[in-house]
Amino acid sequence: MKDPNGRPPKRLLEDPYNRRINYLRISVTDRCNLRCIYCTPAGRIEKLAHGEILSHEENLRIARTGVSLGIDKIRVTGGEPFVRKGIDSFLEKLAAIDGLRDLSLTTNGILLSRHIDRLMDIGIRRLNISLDTLNPEKYHRITGQDGFDRVWRGILTAMEKGFSPIKINVVALAGINDDELADLAALSLKYPLHVRFIEQMDCFGAAAQCAGRPALTETGIRKAISGIGDLVACDRSIPGNGPASRFRIRQAFGEAAGGSPRKAPGEIGFISPVSHHFCSRCNRLRLTADGRLRSCLLSGATIDIRGPLRSGADDAELAEIIVRAVEKKPREQEEAGRKTDCGAKMYAIGG
Ligand code: SAM
Repeated sequence: MKDPNGRPPKRLLEDPYNRRINYLRISVTDRCNLRCIYCTPAGRIEKLAHGEILSHEENLRIARTGVSLGIDKIRVTGGEPFVRKGIDSFLEKLAAIDGLRDLSLTTNGILLSRHIDRLMDIGIRRLNISLDTLNPEKYHRITGQDGFDRVWRGILTAMEKGFSPIKINVVALAGINDDELADLAALSLKYPLHVRFIEQMDCFGAAAQCAGRPALTETGIRKAISGIGDLVACDRSIPGNGPASRFRIRQAFGEAAGGSPRKAPGEIGFISPVSHHFCSRCNRLRLTADGRLRSCLLSGATIDIRGPLRSGADDAELAEIIVRAVEKKPREQEEAGRKTDCGAKMYAIGG
C-alpha cells in the first residue's frame, strides 16, 4: 500500500507485546565532567577507547534509520553530552532529520550556558537538567564538583530564553537530599520548572555513599513534600507524558487565607522505576556510546550495531538490526532479570 504521495508505507517498530517504539535515546559519550555518587562507581572508571565510541556520523546514520522505522522522538544523553566535541553541529544535523518530531537533551547543566544560544538556533526547546540539591556544598558532595552556581545560572538562562519544558531531574537520595525535597518541589511554585523526583536505582554500581541504603520510594518522597500543598494530577492527554506521573501543587494556605488557590507555574513528577514499574508504557530504545542497542534499561541483553555499521552494512541491514533489538524487548524489567546488576553503568547508558 502506498500513501497518497506514492511512497511505500513506513514500517513501524512494534515489540512482541504490542508496544510501539518511537523513542530513541542516544548516549553520545560515556565521559562526564561530574562523578555523581549514585551514577558513577567509586574508584577507577573504565572508559571506552576513542575508537569504541560511535562517531557523530555513525550516530546520525543510526538515527536516520530509526526515523525511517517510525522513531519520531530522540533524546541525546551521555555521560555528559556537552563534553563531546562537535556536539552542537551533531545536534543540528540530528534536528534536520526529516520526520523527527521531538529532539531533546539531558545534561548536568555545567556547560549549558555556553551552548544555549546554539541550542535555541537549532530549535531544541526541551531540556532535562539534573540537579539533586539547592545547597552548593551538598552539590559538591554529590557530584564531586563545585558546580551548583553554574548549573543554576544555566537553568535561569534557559528559562529567560524560553526553553520549555525545562525538567529538573532530582534523584531522591536517602540521608543525602531527603531534607531538601520540599524545597526542590517548591521550585515549581516559583518557576515554570518541571521538578521530577526519580527513585534511585542501585543496580548500576553506584558509589558506597548510596549503595546499600534503603531507597527512598515515591511514597516517602510524597510524604516529604506533602507540607507545601496538594498535588493535583495533570491531564494525561497533555503531550509530554513519559514515565513520570505528573502533578501541579495547589497551595493550601492560599485558600486558608481566603484567597483562591494558586496554581503553580511548574509541575511535579515522580519517576518510580523501583516501586512502580512503567514497562507497559515503555516506548524506548537506547543506543549506547559504544554502539549497542539496549531495549530495556535493566537488561544487559544488547545488540551490537557498531560492528555491522563499520563492516559496511547498508541501510536495510541496519534497519533489520534495529527491528531485531525491538523484538528482544522484554515485557517487564523482571524478565530482564538483573535487578542487582544491570550489566552496565548508568553513565555509559545515559539514564
Ligand atoms: N550527564 C547527564 C545528566 O547528568 O543529566 C546525562 C546522563 S545521566 C546518566 C541521566 C540521568 O540519569 C540523570 O538525570 C540522572 O539523575 C539519572 N541517574 C543516574 N544514575 C541513576 C540512578 N542510579 N538511579 C536513578 N537515576 C539515575
